Amino acid sequence: MTARTFIHCGHLFDGLSGRAEALQTLVVYGDTIDWVGPTAQAPDMTDGDTLLDYSGLFVMPGMVDCHAHITYGNALTQEDIDLYASMEFRTLRSMVAAQAILKSGFTSIIDPACSGLISPAVRDAVNVGLFQGPRITASGRALTTQQGLYDWYPEWIGVPEASTGVMTTSMDQAIALIRQQAKSGVDAIKLTMDGIHARRNGGGLISAYTQAETHTMVDEIHRLGKLAVVHARGREGALYSARAGVDIIYHASSICDEGIQAALDNQVYLCPSLALLVNNIEFHEPTDPSAPWWPDIQRRELATASKNLTRAREAGVRFMSGSEAGFAVTPYGEWGAKELEAHVRYVGMTPAEAIICATVDSTRLLRERDRLGGLVQGRLADLVAVHGDPLQDITLLQRREAIQAVLLGGKPVDLTPAPTHARHFSEFSQGMWNRVYDRPYVDAHFPRSQAQPA
Ligand SMILES: [Zn+2]
Repeated sequence: MTARTFIHCGHLFDGLSGRAEALQTLVVYGDTIDWVGPTAQAPDMTDGDTLLDYSGLFVMPGMVDCHAHITYGNALTQEDIDLYASMEFRTLRSMVAAQAILKSGFTSIIDPACSGLISPAVRDAVNVGLFQGPRITASGRALTTQQGLYDWYPEWIGVPEASTGVMTTSMDQAIALIRQQAKSGVDAIKLTMDGIHARRNGGGLISAYTQAETHTMVDEIHRLGKLAVVHARGREGALYSARAGVDIIYHASSICDEGIQAALDNQVYLCPSLALLVNNIEFHEPTDPSAPWWPDIQRRELATASKNLTRAREAGVRFMSGSEAGFAVTPYGEWGAKELEAHVRYVGMTPAEAIICATVDSTRLLRERDRLGGLVQGRLADLVAVHGDPLQDITLLQRREAIQAVLLGGKPVDLTPAPTHARHFSEFSQGMWNRVYDRPYVDAHFPRSQAQPA
């Protein structure tokens, strides 16, 4: 008989009851929870069994980041995501990114849009045991049009081969790409339902695909047994997606009542990904290249999203938790749990509801969904042991020092911080200055020339 691991929990939040029970024990056999209950009634330990003593800690299911772009590389610019690093370098960097996310208490992720087929490759490398990493539900490049994300550059550049998006100019081409990605082993196929193309006078974002095109692509994705996930910040893109019965709508900031009803009818999950908006507002500096307009746009979107998503939640639409990790303002392993705080502050969840959303609810579409979904008998022992009570203070989960242990299939994860801030110059744009050094600025800030020969 293989040895078992006994885990004594000061408090156990199983993710299903909505309560934390004191003095509980989990018994793990292999990678699976074999027994759960009060420590006083636990089976006896025998020779070879191991004890993990978390009797001073709050034990909860491993969190899920349903919106983590492991190939983005904590990008400072859009070009950093698309252009500079080689595919080979991105792959190695993505492995470390995935590990950093795991170390912060996230035992599973969904990566909706990556360069090439890096995310499925990292998933496979983890699954065959080459590296430790979170459980990954992977996609490939996101399908887009000229009205969607990823077509950032002038037409003489187009969407480069190394971009995390891929241009579709016809439905024939879109269907061919969907079939190719399905053959290549993705779990999910991402459609870009809008970008920055808006109607005048507050008319909202224009959908990148028509309703009929959205149906065509989503039906084919589902026919091939894959998840259909979409980026849609605008009303129209969210509505078309919900009507077509996609699995996840990312953002959905401007979802309307009709969209909410369609999301309910078709059991669509919303994944707001508010941490990116909040960080863009909170961390903005006047010298940033996007000052001053960027934080204002983000502030407006956060207000809109808060109103519409709260309405959607009250109507009964289901939510998932995702932080949009991978940008310079959302570096890997740092802000994943800020999404839980955002769900409390802006979507009206209680801390317990935010934890359930980011754990059990967020496992519902994962690759390993049949074996995940709460700390109960028969489920994989993916868990986090936290110092303090996140039901009292949801921001605790963002603190590295509060995350005392992470278990993946019952095995402790090495929590030594991953070197995600290490940079090689070939990864990033060759941008060199943040401002133009005209005479008035230099006179004001450099009273005497710094470049006098010594
Ligand atoms: Zn995204």
